[in-house]
Amino acid sequence: TAKENGGNTYCFYTSELKKTNEEKLYIQHSIRKALKQNEFTLHYQPIVDIETGDIVAVEALLRWYHPKRGWISPATFIPIAEETNLIQPIGDWVLRKVCEQSKVWRKKGLPHVQIGINVSIKQFLQADLVEHIEHVLRTYDLDPFCLKLEITESMAMHHIDYVLAQLQSLKNLGLQLAVDDFGTGYSSLNYLKKLPIDIIKIDRSFVQDMVKHSYDLSIVRAVIEVAHSLQMKVVAEGVETEEQLAILKREGCDRAQGYYFSKPLSAEQFEQLVQSEKGRSH
Ligand code: C2E
Ligand code: MG
Ligand code: MG
Ligand code: MG
Repeated sequence: TAKENGGNTYCFYTSELKKTNEEKLYIQHSIRKALKQNEFTLHYQPIVDIETGDIVAVEALLRWYHPKRGWISPATFIPIAEETNLIQPIGDWVLRKVCEQSKVWRKKGLPHVQIGINVSIKQFLQADLVEHIEHVLRTYDLDPFCLKLEITESMAMHHIDYVLAQLQSLKNLGLQLAVDDFGTGYSSLNYLKKLPIDIIKIDRSFVQDMVKHSYDLSIVRAVIEVAHSLQMKVVAEGVETEEQLAILKREGCDRAQGYYFSKPLSAEQFEQLVQSEKGRSH
């Protein structure tokens, strides 16, 4: 009967809810441990200049090998870290790690590449974020231009005035700023005009669908046109096929990132890739 079903549904619901809360607590506890025991690593995904084929930048992506559960995706643990203050120590770890890595690559004589890191809203709401980044850059003696911050569109739009002030300070410091996953949030071209942004990253959903659907192609085309008229560069995310790349090239997109070029790589794998590219072009 309906009543029985209702009862069952209720029981199921509460036990599921309890499970998710327990799960969250477990992940939070595990993140604290991971920070102490150095379980996080960064992988680096190349970003290629479409015209020249050169690797001009990388995006640093968090990887976590949990001792009991194995690999846990950032898409799973970042939102949980954001709900607590754990995103701050994670963000700080990422920042320091990329600065350290950039210094190592510079010492090894690798060609200069810009390193992008993903920054969460919670980090932006930290009042001393700008001073903190400045301090870390100085500690590692790093040119601010080497560092690119990726922020998601919805994040920038939700706290527009505050975020705008922070972004302007970061811009004044000399950092590069990118809007991530563009097109998936609350897009407003009017806000885009106000943000001191250098780069727009078109979300991979458009890149993947533009081959089949003309409206996705229209969006890609429009984003490129608007970005260029605002003196911004465009990165296409999630490029997996030659066909996608050909379309992007034809449409005048500046840069591409995706499995077609490379999956995110460990620092060592990335060094090997760069060395072999160097060998090829000389
Ligand atoms: P994102 O910043 O948009 O990063 C791009 C994601 O797309 C990465 O997933 C990358 O591995 C994946 N990807 C790259 N090329 C392709 C492709 O050709 N096809 C497909 N299907 N996927 C591709 P990942 O590494 O799982 O990261 C997921 C998200 O987690 C990131 O999305 C970012 O929002 C967040 N994230 C990762 N690392 C950090 C971090 O250090 N801090 C913060 N706050 N967020 C992070
Ligand atoms: Mg990103
Ligand atoms: Mg993205
Ligand atoms: Mg994303």
